[in-house]
Amino acid sequence: MRTIIQSILTCPNCGYQSKETMPTDVCQYFFECVNCHQIFKPKPGDCCVYCSYGTVKCPPMQGEGGCC
Ligand SMILES: [Zn+2]
Repeated sequence: MRTIIQSILTCPNCGYQSKETMPTDVCQYFFECVNCHQIFKPKPGDCCVYCSYGTVKCPPMQGEGGCC
């Protein structure tokens, strides 16, 4: 299965969408919105901001189904 590393993150504060390239080796836990500069964290139970606010799950979750 091919891993998707491009994700569109939607800021939970202002709704701004930014296209991001996900790191394949680490989970990104914090993300600063480029529009409102709010730093946001994953929802409870999610491992990273991409799983919570992105269009696709992070690369580790796409693979073995587990992360961190
Ligand atoms: Zn924002």
